[in-house]
Amino acid sequence: MSDSQASAETRAKAERLRQEISRHNHLYFVLAKPEVTDSEYDRMFRELVDLELSYPELAVPDSPTRRVGAPPASGFAEVVHPLPLLSLSNVFDREELEAWYRRACDYGDLKGFDLICELKIDGLAVSLTYEDGVFVRGGTRGDGERGEDVTANLRTIRSIPLRLHSGGYPPIVEVRGEVYYPAGAFEQLNREREVEGEPLYVNPRNAASGALRQLDSRVTARRPLDFFAYAIGHADGGDLPTTQWDTLEQLKEWGFHTPPWARRAKSLDEVLAAFDEVVELRKSLDFGIDGIVVKADERRVALRLGHVAREPRWATAFKFAAEQVTTVLKEIRVNVGRTGSLNPYAVLEPVFVGGVMVSQATLHNEDDIRRKDIRQGDTVIVQRAGEVIPQVVGPVLEKRPPGTVEYRVPRECPSCGQPAVRDEAEAVVRCVNAKCPAQFHRLLEHFAARGAMDIEGLGVKLSAELIAAGLVHDIADVFALEARREDLLQLDRMGEKSVDNLIQAIRGAQQRPLARLLYALGIPHVGAETAELLAGKFGSLASLQSATIEQIDEVEGIGPEIARNVAHWFEARENQDVIGRLVAAGVNPVEAPRVGPGPRPFDGKRFVVTGSLERFTRSEAQSRIKSLGGLVSGSVSKKTDFVVVGAEPGSKLDDANRLGVRTITEEQFVEMLNKPELARAGDAPAGRA
Ligand code: NAD
Repeated sequence: MSDSQASAETRAKAERLRQEISRHNHLYFVLAKPEVTDSEYDRMFRELVDLELSYPELAVPDSPTRRVGAPPASGFAEVVHPLPLLSLSNVFDREELEAWYRRACDYGDLKGFDLICELKIDGLAVSLTYEDGVFVRGGTRGDGERGEDVTANLRTIRSIPLRLHSGGYPPIVEVRGEVYYPAGAFEQLNREREVEGEPLYVNPRNAASGALRQLDSRVTARRPLDFFAYAIGHADGGDLPTTQWDTLEQLKEWGFHTPPWARRAKSLDEVLAAFDEVVELRKSLDFGIDGIVVKADERRVALRLGHVAREPRWATAFKFAAEQVTTVLKEIRVNVGRTGSLNPYAVLEPVFVGGVMVSQATLHNEDDIRRKDIRQGDTVIVQRAGEVIPQVVGPVLEKRPPGTVEYRVPRECPSCGQPAVRDEAEAVVRCVNAKCPAQFHRLLEHFAARGAMDIEGLGVKLSAELIAAGLVHDIADVFALEARREDLLQLDRMGEKSVDNLIQAIRGAQQRPLARLLYALGIPHVGAETAELLAGKFGSLASLQSATIEQIDEVEGIGPEIARNVAHWFEARENQDVIGRLVAAGVNPVEAPRVGPGPRPFDGKRFVVTGSLERFTRSEAQSRIKSLGGLVSGSVSKKTDFVVVGAEPGSKLDDANRLGVRTITEEQFVEMLNKPELARAGDAPAGRA
């Protein structure tokens, strides 16, 4: 600690750090799209804390070191927390843990105190208010004082009791805990996003946050979110348990799931033993954790210790070491995705990270590689994000060898040698040869995968062999394999038994429901969710095949781009041929169309969306408009009622101004979604876009 005045340079540095940290808080907590790794963020945060300790005049009241998270996002109503929801201090080793414990004892004038260790769930904190035992309101942590009202979304999570079980609860009680995204589902989500060319979630917390903070609770309901309770916050009357251990018991009696592991500890040695236990346990958990939380067990001790700025003194997070290492990136290669996208990946000098040996890592796309300036030959930082997919974080520039060059995805398909073209809208380079063998290989794997047609035994290897042996040229050929028994027996390691099993599995696949089949066909941009929507509306292949772009576009949740893709896919002669042969082979599921008319407050109103929005993808915004009965068009005309203007709008904004069509900002659009009568009254909230 120093009493000297900070120099102008130090003050400027602190200001820069404050701005950077606030920006990353917004990216991480509000947009769920962090740009830096947690350890980079933690390093900046610590640097600012150290500066503020050395020069107390730099610790301004609005410094991010004194605040939790980020203010609530617009688009949600606000909840005010009766007691603030805090963050936690971090420790990474025994020494830091001892220092934390010593500070707490000194502050509370205590010789020592009993501890409890809990799993630190990698999700997002929420507060649930129960009045007379009934769930009435739920909010995110937000900036600790005020959060976003996500009551409707929380109601979709089945493990949150809508009414407390057993009696004995205070008339008003606030339960706190963590909403999380289960690990298996998280991996699946990222796999799907990768196939769809969407950015991956870096950890389960971001995925949970993205899913919970949806403006449309039907979208949240489709995500497999879950909840663990770990604290009682504000309580109006009633007796509360006197220890944290008993609090967890009480929460269970009220019907909550609490994290499946906790240990009481009477010494720091016992805490360290508990930590080691969790390092092992972690591998078998179906949810992400990033360490343990060490808390004072007795409530009276916690009350005595209180909190400082954004952190309680009575608890700390004992976090796992960051799972990042450096290694040499030997080469950047590309593989061909099922829709022809050339996906770059890094071939690494093998390295041990996050408990496994890694020799390859994803590199998203050309723009991302350029933005991070990753080059062949670089020493790079590699991390295992959310314990799943290894990622290259960036180069260590000091170690860059001479003669490296900026990377460019090849403009020639490595599989078929045909020219590949860059799709500017998606920043993807694509092989456009419909007969490209690599694309077909990926498609066949996808077709047979779990979640699609689920043909057990037809994996990566067998797909490749079937193609190489000329037994399968398109996916309809799969259903003709039963007649090629002798040929199948010639394949590598295919005995009578495995051929029987394969044929059985193919027969089973003939019965898959329509949504699964539509997803399996690999129509560009048709993920599992869009396939459900299409199946629900059209009920059969024949009916979807004869649908016009406009009819597909009318489906709630489907935007014009997807509609165009689907219609074009069904128009292509080779696809019609495949469908015809699938139907002839008995693969023709039929379902009764599901129709569900909702209120249509935007009825007859025409919208155009231009530029990029922060809170929605273009198609999400369009489907929200349509779900309220509005019409979406691709270009501005005199008939357009509203043009929703995002960042970097195109010529549509000029058209709107020229034609005198009303423009609204994203914020005004969100307000309109919440109060659709604004659109009817022609009374959009004032303001310029
Ligand atoms: P935190 O995640 O380190 O700890 C506090 C949170 O732990 C609580 O709010 C609660 O949600 C959670 N928690 C889980 N299990 C718990 C349990 N059993 N008992 C109590 N709480 C439990 O702190 P934070 O303020 O939420 O986030 C800060 C961290 O987030 C940073 O250290 C960094 O790792 C990350 N971050 C990253 C970026 C980035 O850009 N990469 C930006 C901001 C924050």
